[in-house]
Amino acid sequence: MVRSIPLRGGTSIPQFGLGTYKLAPEQTQRTVEAALELGYRHVDTAAMYGNEREVGLALAASGLARDDVFVTTKLNNPDHDPDAARAAFERSLDALQLDQVDLYLIHWPLAHSTDYVATWATLIEIAATGRARAIGVSNFQPDHLRRIIDATGVTPAVNQVEIHPYLSQDPLRALHAGLGIVTEAWSPLARGKVLDDPVVEGIAARLGATPAQVVLAWHLRRGDVVFPKSTHPGRLAENLAATTIDLDAADAAALDGLNRDERTGSHPDHVEWP
Ligand code: NDP
Repeated sequence: MVRSIPLRGGTSIPQFGLGTYKLAPEQTQRTVEAALELGYRHVDTAAMYGNEREVGLALAASGLARDDVFVTTKLNNPDHDPDAARAAFERSLDALQLDQVDLYLIHWPLAHSTDYVATWATLIEIAATGRARAIGVSNFQPDHLRRIIDATGVTPAVNQVEIHPYLSQDPLRALHAGLGIVTEAWSPLARGKVLDDPVVEGIAARLGATPAQVVLAWHLRRGDVVFPKSTHPGRLAENLAATTIDLDAADAAALDGLNRDERTGSHPDHVEWP
C-alpha cells in the first residue's frame, strides 16, 4: 500500500509515516504503538520533541524487526558544534535504544548563528560509521543546500520542509528534483488549517473521502514523503487509508491552485540559536 522511495546512501524510505511533533512523552508510546499496529512503518521524531525515548519503547514493544521500521531523528538547535553534534547523536541513539537510525537530519540551518557546513560535515562523519543509514537536512533554503553540497561534495538524501496546499513550495521542490534530493513535507495538513477549505471539502465529498485523506493523497501524488501526526487511533487509520486514494489530474490541479505561500510554522530565516 505504501510506496518506498529510494534514498541516497542505498536505502529507501516509506512514503507515508507518523509524525511525532507535539506528542507529549506520556502520549507517545501508545500513539506510536497504535500506528505500528495499523501498519505504519515509518516514524519521524527529533531530539527537540523530547519523545525519542517513548518512540524507542514503542518500537521495542511492537516486536517488529529493526529493518521493518524506518526511523528518522534530528539534531537539535543547541547542538550544531561538531563535538556537541557527535554527543547529541549518541544521546539520540541511546534514547531510541537503537544501534542505528535510518535517517539523521539537521533540524534547522540556523544560518546566521552557526556554521552549518561544519555541522553537515559532522553528519557525513556519522554516516561513514554506518550508524545513520542516510543523512539529510530540514528547513534548508536553496542557498543553504548549494553551500553544503559545494563545500563537501555530499548531497543530502532529503530536505524536510513545510509543505501543504497553502504552501506548495514548487520552486524548492524543483531544485530538490534537480539535485536528487527527496522532498519531505512537514505539517502536510497545515496542522488542520486546510481541512475546511471549500475546494478540499468539495473533492472529499465527491470522492467519499475525508478532507485529510484528499490532502494527503495530493502530497503522495506529487511524490513527496509525508508523516501526518495524530493522537487519535481513528485518524491514524483514516490518514493511512489516504494511500489507497488516487486523485485525478483535475483534482490535483484544483489543489495546486490553493497555494498562497502561507506558512503555519516558522520561516527558516527566522529560527536561530541562541
Ligand atoms: P500535521 O499537518 O500533521 O497536522 C497535525 C494536526 O492535525 C494535529 O492537530 C492533529 O490533531 C490533526 N489531524 C491529524 N489527522 C487528522 C485528521 N484525519 N482529521 C482532522 N485532523 C487531523 O502537523 P505536524 O506539525 O504535526 O506535522 C507532521 C510532522 O512533521 C510532525 O509531527 C513532525 O514529525 C514533522 N515536523 C517537522 C518540522 C521540522 O522543522 N522539521 C516542523 C513541524 C513538523 P490530533 O492529534 O488531535 O488528531
